[in-house]
Amino acid sequence: MTSAPRPIGTPNDLEAYWMPFTANRSFKQNPRMVARAEGMFYYTPEGKPVMDGTAGLWCCNAGHAREPIIQAIQAQARELDYAPSFQYGHPKVFAAAARIAALAPGDLDHVFFAGSGSEAADTALKIALAYWNISGKGAKTRLIGRERGYHGVGFGGISVGGMVNNRKFFGGLLTGTDHISHTYDREKQAFSKGEPDYGAHFADDLERVVTLHDASTIAAVIVEPMAGSTGALPPPKGYLKRLRELCDKHGILLIFDEVITGFGRLGYAFAAERYGVIPDMITFAKGVTSGTVPMGGVLVRKHIYDAFMGGPDNVIELFHGYTYSGHPLAAAASLATLDLYREEGLFERALAMEPMWADAVMSLKGEPNVVDIRTVGMVGAVDLAPRAEGVGKRGYEAIERGFHEEGLMIRTAGDTIAFSPPLIITESQVEELIGKLRRVIRAVAG
Ligand code: PMP
Repeated sequence: MTSAPRPIGTPNDLEAYWMPFTANRSFKQNPRMVARAEGMFYYTPEGKPVMDGTAGLWCCNAGHAREPIIQAIQAQARELDYAPSFQYGHPKVFAAAARIAALAPGDLDHVFFAGSGSEAADTALKIALAYWNISGKGAKTRLIGRERGYHGVGFGGISVGGMVNNRKFFGGLLTGTDHISHTYDREKQAFSKGEPDYGAHFADDLERVVTLHDASTIAAVIVEPMAGSTGALPPPKGYLKRLRELCDKHGILLIFDEVITGFGRLGYAFAAERYGVIPDMITFAKGVTSGTVPMGGVLVRKHIYDAFMGGPDNVIELFHGYTYSGHPLAAAASLATLDLYREEGLFERALAMEPMWADAVMSLKGEPNVVDIRTVGMVGAVDLAPRAEGVGKRGYEAIERGFHEEGLMIRTAGDTIAFSPPLIITESQVEELIGKLRRVIRAVAG
């Protein structure tokens, strides 16, 4: 389809904006617009409510238009709008780092700020490389990711990432990377609630990669505790522990990308706590400000930070950072967000609601074309059998139908429908969400 000519420069013109990760031409034929949001709902420009089934892009964990966060951002803009991120400091960035470190398990005591999840991933990979370099093991440069992994869109992130479309158009990528196997086996894991029983052995694939390259060349392994953007794949029971053991055995740093799983999505501040596994670094973003102001960062264990702080004290320890690392508005938003999470007990609430949520999501089993369902924390994913004419078709249709007909925001990855509502969702809203989803699934069944 070609789009009708549009007047240029009018407020309604949609042409100038090149939308990310979107089929621009078909979107612009039939736009899905939201103009306002409050609590569990978005509202279209015409005022129609759209239930937020996805917490925006897995980020608005406290729901929308939360007054304490709004006030903190407004007050901060008045008081200190921007401060240089390096060689000067401002009080809230130190406070935010201390609060985030206090939430993290073990000795993940230090925080390096970035502006997004992608920047956080590249920052963690660079810290890993620099760590081995200054530790006299400069041959350890290889970075290992996982099939079906997503670590943002920087060159580091796409090189260790395992989403084919995010890689294949962009040339040779970083050299010296490799990937271990993903953890999904539909036959043996289908319709598992929470962590599947089968699949801890997928961690052993790291042994294959170590044999191939030798541990003396490997810097780090990066994985999402729950792979999010490739369809919500919870880790098999025992998998992450096994990965930690293998990294310890071979002297390889372990990085958890908790951009999605951080800040309550799995019922804990970090998935590392849920799974009782302490990685060497954790990347975070999204929920740290409940999506209100862009912010990302890397939590770093003491031994790594200390390695950098061992030299003369008047030299820059790490040549890395961003203009917007620890931006005052983001720092203020994160402090207010973390207060809200604590005051409303939203992480505990998510954990308490998980069994009810899992039952509600699993009730979609038996609907037409549903070939698998996964749940963990406040995450659900439904796989639909692909249409004959191609993977993703049913998924796109589900987004269209959901938004325009049912007033529901969902996300798809291929033919997987993923949903992850704000953690303020009530039990009756869970029923409402699942009811809408059931109608969408039936509608796209033909
Ligand atoms: N890592 C993971 C696990 C993510 O899910 C995402 C975003 N969905 C990113 C990194 C990238 O974050 P951003 O879009 O903020 O760069």
